[in-house]
This record gives sequence, structure tokens and C-alpha cells, in this order.
Amino acid sequence: MQPRDLSDLSPYVPGRGAEEVARELGMDPDDLTKLSSNENPHGPSPAAVAAIQETAPRVGVYPKASHTDLGEKLANHWDCAPEQVWVTPGADGAIDYLSRAFLDPGDRILAPEPGFSYYRMSARYHHGDVATYELSKADDFAQAPATVLDAYDGERMVYLTTPHNPTGAEFSREAIVELAESVSEDTLLVVDEAYAEYTEAPSAIDLLDDYDNLAVLRTFSKAYGLAGLRVGYGVVPESWADAYARVNTPFAASEVGCRAALAALDDDDHLDTTVETARWARAYLRDNLDAPTWESGGNFVLAEVGDASAVAEATQRQGVIVRDCSSFGLPECIRVSCGTRETTPRAVETINDALAEVRV
Ligand SMILES: *Cc1c(COP(=O)(O)O)cnc(C)c1O
Repeated sequence: MQPRDLSDLSPYVPGRGAEEVARELGMDPDDLTKLSSNENPHGPSPAAVAAIQETAPRVGVYPKASHTDLGEKLANHWDCAPEQVWVTPGADGAIDYLSRAFLDPGDRILAPEPGFSYYRMSARYHHGDVATYELSKADDFAQAPATVLDAYDGERMVYLTTPHNPTGAEFSREAIVELAESVSEDTLLVVDEAYAEYTEAPSAIDLLDDYDNLAVLRTFSKAYGLAGLRVGYGVVPESWADAYARVNTPFAASEVGCRAALAALDDDDHLDTTVETARWARAYLRDNLDAPTWESGGNFVLAEVGDASAVAEATQRQGVIVRDCSSFGLPECIRVSCGTRETTPRAVETINDALAEVRV
């Protein structure tokens, strides 16, 4: 027998992993600089690592208290009700839970192009359809209400990514307010703030006091350095608590993940260092890459390099992994994640050498 017809679904294309590349090149993964998945180059907070170690002997039980504790701590952090926090396996999990809760078969979502592919994948898994709004390079990928509203046709869910992956562009708070007011009251506006720690702009979470067609996504994968543990959350209107109870996969955020996230939330120093380094690195990348780049509110910079696949292959041979943006529909661009103060300048040298080599 066979699975159902999956030809409408496309596999997720992740940035290449250090171990995978190291095996291919016969190198030690520790000698590689991985700047392809927007991970935290400092890794997790030491407090999170300690929490993981302390939790190890206790993973024989289902995560119940830790999940509740994390929801409450986050509610406290954002000054909202615990019922508003949907703890999920990564922000990707939050996207799935929203798809489950909002999409009837055939309902359509509106997602940015270029953009994060999982919005579309999740909609299709849930038998939904996908329309896109175009972010134009000629316009520096500007994120304005008109860009979304020109394409908007009553979709059930509209995704906004701010800062945007892979462009780094942001929606202003006024733009989000304008969109919340312009779309139908049956349209859910999903504001994906996976990279919000890196920008100066305020979160849209407090807009939930005024709008009930809004959900805000956050994750522990990026600034908190816990990508391997898969913990994220959505902040939503309080009245949806019943929907969460009905759609969530039981115990989908793990005991280890919840304990690590709880510890990470208490380590402001680690977060501050992370954000400070990323802001330094993105300025360094923009100042020193021999290629046009775009302003970024995230922990990465998009650069126009001509043949992205050739450039990414050339840097990889020298041990620097960057993201070829072909799968985002930008075959002429690479996305370079912010490294540390040590790795970033060396990576820039390698990328510039590759640019010179490929351009000849
Ligand atoms: C990384 C990322 C996410 C989610 O990552 P998780 O690891 O599932 O939390 C969501 N949205 C965007 C735009 C991202 O880049």
C-alpha cells in the first residue's frame, strides 16, 4: 500500500548541517563555521545546560508541571494570562496548532514570497490552499500594509514575519495595527517573531489587548540557542484556550525542553551577549562583504552574490556553511547568519574569496 497522494506537498529544505558537510568533506565538524540556520553561535545558556543535565534522570515521566510552569512564566513575562500562551514543539508546532484550529479543508492562507516555507507546508498538511504576497527585491523587500492588502482576498490566515526570514526587513507596529484593522474579522493575522529578540522594535504581543484576530509566534530556537530541543509558543487571545486543549498534541513540548526554556528565561546575561554579538556581526557583515546586502533586524544578513549555489559550495569547501537562498526563490542570494566576534571576520574573508573565485 501507499500513502495518500502527497504530490502537492514539498519537503522542507533546511540549511546544511555541520556534521553532514563535515562527513562529506572528511573534516572535523568543529572546524566548520555553520552560518546557514540562524542558530545562536554561543549555543544555549549554561543555566539551560545545567537544567538539561538535572532533568536527564527524570525523563521517565510525562511533562506536565514543567509545561504549566513554562506557560505561566511566559504569561508573567509578557503580562498576559496563562491561557493565552500555547506552548508548542518549536514555533513550527505553533504554526501547526493554528492551522489545525483555524483551517477547514479548502481554506486559504496568504504567505510572503520569498518567505518561510513552513507556513505553506503546514496549510497544505491541513488540507488548506496557499496564496502569496510578493516582497519585491526592487523595493528592498519592503514590508508595508499595501503589499499584503493588494494580494489579500479574504484568506483565513495571513502570515507576517518580522524581522523577515530571509530578508531581515520588518513590519512597523503601525503597519501591523493597520493590517489587523483592515482584514476581515474572520481572518487571523499571524505575526511570526522568531527573530524579534534581535530588533529594537517592540513585540506585537501587547496588541492582543486590543485585537482578537491576532496570534504572535516566538521560539527558543534562535536567540535562546535551544533549536535542538524544539520549544516555541504562540501568544493568542484568551478565549482560544479551549481550542488549544482540543488541537494540541499531548506532551508535544518535552520535559527537557520545557525545563531548559524555564532556565534560559532567567539568564538575561546570555541573551544580552547573544543580541549584542548579533547586532555587531550583522553590521560587520554589511560593512565588509563584497556584495550588496540588505538591512536586517535579525541575526543574519541577505547578500546578493550572483550564483548563490556556486558561492555556497565554494565557501563550504573552505569550511564556512552559508545558506543558498535558491529554495526561497532567490537563487542569486545567500543568507549569512551572525557568528561570534571570532568566527564572523574569518567567514567574511572566506565568502569574499569565494565571490572573487566565482566571479572570475
Ligand atoms: C526558525 C524559524 C521559525 C521556527 O523555528 P522553530 O525551531 O520551529 O521554533 C519560525 N519562523 C521563522 C521565520 C523562522 O526562521
